[in-house]
Amino acid sequence: MTRYVTVEPDLLYDGIRVLDGGKLTFDESGTLVDPSQILDDVSTTHLRFRNKAIVPGFVNSHSHAFQRLIRGRTHEKAALREDFWSWRQMMMTAVSQLTPEELYQVTYLAFVEMLLAGYTTVGEFHYIHRQPDGSPYDESNYLGKIVIQAALDAGIRIVLLRTATCRSGFANTPAEGGQRRFVEPDPEQIFNDLECLQNYLRRTDDPCSRMGVAPHSIRAVGASELVRFHAWAEKNHISFHIHAAEQPAEVEASLTHTGLRPVEYLANLGVLSKITTLVHATHVNQYEIDRIADTQTTVCVCPTTEADLGDGLLPAGLMAQKRIPMALGSDSQAIIDPFCEMRMLETGERLRTGQRICLGGPSAHDNGTSLTMPEHLMRSGTVAGSRSLHPNVVENPSLLRPGLPADFVVVDLHHPSLVGCSRATLIPSLVLHGAAGAVTDVWVQGKRRVSDKTHRGYNRGVQNFLTVCRRLFETP
Ligand SMILES: [Zn+2]
Repeated sequence: MTRYVTVEPDLLYDGIRVLDGGKLTFDESGTLVDPSQILDDVSTTHLRFRNKAIVPGFVNSHSHAFQRLIRGRTHEKAALREDFWSWRQMMMTAVSQLTPEELYQVTYLAFVEMLLAGYTTVGEFHYIHRQPDGSPYDESNYLGKIVIQAALDAGIRIVLLRTATCRSGFANTPAEGGQRRFVEPDPEQIFNDLECLQNYLRRTDDPCSRMGVAPHSIRAVGASELVRFHAWAEKNHISFHIHAAEQPAEVEASLTHTGLRPVEYLANLGVLSKITTLVHATHVNQYEIDRIADTQTTVCVCPTTEADLGDGLLPAGLMAQKRIPMALGSDSQAIIDPFCEMRMLETGERLRTGQRICLGGPSAHDNGTSLTMPEHLMRSGTVAGSRSLHPNVVENPSLLRPGLPADFVVVDLHHPSLVGCSRATLIPSLVLHGAAGAVTDVWVQGKRRVSDKTHRGYNRGVQNFLTVCRRLFETP
């Protein structure tokens, strides 16, 4: 007998509109179904969520999960000027010491924290591939598979963005410290590893694990390889992600070595496209914004990390006017809270322009329908992220519609941040005032991963994470 589950909250946001008293029904495979199509001979579990709302699961399009390890450890002023580059040094030191087992433990807890906060999908920009001395593991995808396993064990949907770092920088000096674990000088080996990883994912055939291709940045991968990686992603119908224009120094280096700004350079190479996501795109000019828009490229903004690192503010209002899809990522894990990321996309623009209600307008999605500012933010946290990670829209898990995966989040309407919100104010309340603490339950592919604010692996995950912290930070 086929089993179904029906969930019924007070308010249901299906990704497009808020319904009073809507229901969701899904089958054993974790796929949403139309209740009117269900035959009589079935068993249905009915769950009623009073004083709760259900919304699509949030998508974290850019994550380096292991960086959760250095949270709280990078705020001491040791030099006259602390910036992204001194933070990066701290991150590299941590990278150089992690064992594969420790990478699993740190990554696992970061993924659990994401689930507790309402993320149901993570795009993990995975760039640690080698041993601390720079030599390869016997199995080149060893660490990538560990990260995928951590996601599946935690229960979050993952797109492993398999990163390529072919050189240490424009000058191609020998890699040092933690960077030795990233650099793989032979692109042919990377293509081979991409093929192997894809075959592995096909064999395991888990609907919650997919891959994308992610050249680290223009300083780490040369022009001809960038074009080849993009072509490989296009051929395989998967996403292509790259860091671009996060820091002014990066723009300067690009001008020095290529004569072009980073996004201009990528546009000239022809690698801006529907499958491409530019991570950050903080320092871009009007010409570059126009190229991003012309090519329907997605931008992934990481507001809490960009604020933490002092990266700057991207021209979000101009991008919204150009209908550029803006996805969101927790990046360095300074904060793991999708509500905070959505809010800061708008409030950053308010600080930059001195105005209110900055985003919204005709959308890159919904056939150009005009969106309110809160709707725009909600799309950034969900649909734009899905588009960024799953160019194959059939798998888009951000709309709660029959045929799509049951990835959704229950929020407590009696949480202090939300008390008093109604059907009309649910979305503005969530995106501008809500908090991860309002999330009570989370389903991914029809499986309940967070139940009444509890993830079953949390306590064990904390103990293992603390063991890693003790070894790395408390060794005399
Ligand atoms: Zn990043």
